[in-house]
Amino acid sequence: YVLKDENILVMRKLGEGSVGTVHKVEYLPTRKIMARKTMAVYPDEANHKQIVRELRLLKQCQSPYIVKFFGAYFSDDNDGQSIAICMEYCEGGSLEAVYKRAAQLNAQIGEGVLGKVALAVLNGLVHLHSYRVIHRDVKPSNILVTGRGEIKLCDFGVSGELVDSIAQTFVGTSYYMAPERIQGDRYAVQSDVWSLGLTLIEASQNQFPFPPPGHPQLSVIELLEYIIHMPVPEMDTRFSDECRDFVRVCLIKDPKERPTPQQLLRHAFVVRAAAKKLDLKSWIERVWGFKK
Ligand code: ATP
Ligand code: MG
Repeated sequence: YVLKDENILVMRKLGEGSVGTVHKVEYLPTRKIMARKTMAVYPDEANHKQIVRELRLLKQCQSPYIVKFFGAYFSDDNDGQSIAICMEYCEGGSLEAVYKRAAQLNAQIGEGVLGKVALAVLNGLVHLHSYRVIHRDVKPSNILVTGRGEIKLCDFGVSGELVDSIAQTFVGTSYYMAPERIQGDRYAVQSDVWSLGLTLIEASQNQFPFPPPGHPQLSVIELLEYIIHMPVPEMDTRFSDECRDFVRVCLIKDPKERPTPQQLLRHAFVVRAAAKKLDLKSWIERVWGFKK
């Protein structure tokens, strides 16, 4: 079978990001449900061949902590050319959707689940790193939950060629960027650790931690400046010392002092999370009110 528009039935839109649109789709030849992300790209044959080559790495990159990649194809329509990336559909939605849901219910994600999120993200980052891939975009919308309650990473920067080809300005400005990245320094795995720290605080308080509550509104540039120069946020005191220390070390400003994902897998908070029995399938069913 071939992955192409003719073989795909679009079911519904899951969401829209800064560069693409994600739909829940059915692959008709096998009736498999998938998520398909489409992004407008510059037309350039040679470059498209290179993108396909780079995306092949995704096929090898399989792990329980990484959203499964099924394949990609280019297509033409009235608006120009686009690339479609087909991946595992994650029924539980993103960590962003989950905490926004919690906020609606006047609830918050608890420490047990946050521990499992940290564990999954660190395992995913360690796995990617074994392929010399740095994620570059860790944030709540890129951490997905499957219907079985598995927590997985998506949208990592496997293809530099693809990033260059995306027909959209302002790609890559993100408030989750580590200070060294905002300042244009070299990027290393530690930068993903910073983003994980911010992600955990955001998911715990149903709100992005910069600027702190009560602080006046800031422009994009001011906010990035603020992240570089002002004190880092902390996890609320309702969380355990281990949990708060974990987030504190993720948010060490100097990347040389900040631990790597590998090192963090030995942190007490993560060791405890790994040992903890938690039924995440029932948890995500409760979050969304799925039928058993
Ligand atoms: P940005 O483009 O700024 O990185 P984003 O991550 O929200 O933001 P997209 O990656 O385009 O943007 O995703 C759009 C929405 O679709 C997000 O809410 C995301 O969580 C959801 N989504 C993406 N992939 C899947 C998937 N495989 N299964 C279920 N939902 C998904
Ligand atoms: Mg995304």
